Amino acid sequence: MTQSSTPPLRGRLAPSPTGALHLGNARSFLIAWLSIRSRGGTVLLRMEDLDHPKVKPQAAQQALEDLRWMGLDWDEGPDVGGPFVPYVQTARLERYAEALAKLQEQRLLYPCVCSRQDVEAGQSAPHAGEDGLAYDGACRGRFANYAEAAATLPPGRLPAWRFRAEAGETVFEDGFRGWQRETVSQTVGDFVIARHPQGAGYMLAVVVDDAAMGATEVLRGDDLLPATHRQLLLYRALGLTPPRFVHVPLVVAPDGRRLAKRHGDTRLAALRQHGLRPSQVVGVLAEWCGWAQPGEEIMPVDLVSRFRLDSIPRAPVVLSDEVKQKLGCMA
Ligand code: GLU
Repeated sequence: MTQSSTPPLRGRLAPSPTGALHLGNARSFLIAWLSIRSRGGTVLLRMEDLDHPKVKPQAAQQALEDLRWMGLDWDEGPDVGGPFVPYVQTARLERYAEALAKLQEQRLLYPCVCSRQDVEAGQSAPHAGEDGLAYDGACRGRFANYAEAAATLPPGRLPAWRFRAEAGETVFEDGFRGWQRETVSQTVGDFVIARHPQGAGYMLAVVVDDAAMGATEVLRGDDLLPATHRQLLLYRALGLTPPRFVHVPLVVAPDGRRLAKRHGDTRLAALRQHGLRPSQVVGVLAEWCGWAQPGEEIMPVDLVSRFRLDSIPRAPVVLSDEVKQKLGCMA
C-alpha cells in the first residue's frame, strides 16, 4: 500500500469583527470557500478579534450571520467547535505568547519604543496602503532587555516587540499571481509583532493559528500579498510549514480605492435589509468571477461545480453604478 504524504486539504475563512462584511470581503470569502469545497476539503472559520480598538461589539456574531446568510458554511469554527478549539483569537493568547518566547530565545526580537501609530498598526492586517515606510531600525540593539526599554517610557506605555527582518529574499508561488519575491528587510524593515509581551498582533497570530489549525490553503484579498512575505519569515523562524497562498484581486470603487462607506452601503446586512435575496448577491459575486451570467441568481452550493480560479479576472473588480443600482446600494 502506498502512503500519501499530502496533508488533507483545509482552508479557512478569517473574518475580523471590525465592521460589517461588505461585497468585497464577501467575494473573497466566496472564492476561498469554493476553492476548498470544490475539492472536497474542510473549511474552518476563525474569528480574528485581536484588534481591540477597532473590534465592534456584536460584529463577530454579525459576521457569522452574514456568511451563513450568503450560503457559506464551515466544518469547524467558534459556533460549531472542532479539533482545534478555540477558533477565536482572543481565546488563544497563550499560544502567541509561546511563539513570542520561541522567537525571543532565538534573539529574533527586540523591544521597541518607537511611534505608537506604527505599533498599533501591527495589531491588524495591513490592507492596501496601510504599510508605511521601511522601519529605520532605531531600536535595534538599543536596549539590553525589555525592562531597560520599558524604563524609558512614561507610565502606562509598554515597549512593543519587533521582529528582525534579516536580509534575503522570500519567494513563493502564489496560486493566482504566480511567483512572488520580496526582500522584507528593504521594503518594510523590522516589523512589530506584539504591542507588549501579551499583545500579539495579526502578523504573528495568523501564522501561529494557520499552522496550528492545519490550514493548507490561505486564499484572501491581494492587498495582503505583501504581508505574506513577513508571514513567511515567521514561518521560517518558528520552524513551521507554510500553506499554499492564493491572493485574489479586490473589489474597488470607480475611483480605484478600497470600498468604503462613501461608495454606498454594500454591507451584506444592509442589502439583506433592503430585501435582496442571497442568490441575487451571490449571483453578482459569481458574475464578477466569470462563473455566472449577468442577472443570474445562484447560491454558493450550486457554484461548486463551476469554480475555476483561472476565470477570475486579473484586474480588480470595479463596483459600477449599474451593479449598485441593481443592488439598491447607491451612495
Ligand atoms: N482577518 C483578516 C482581515 O479580515 C484577514 C487575514 C487573512 O486572511 O490572513 O483583514
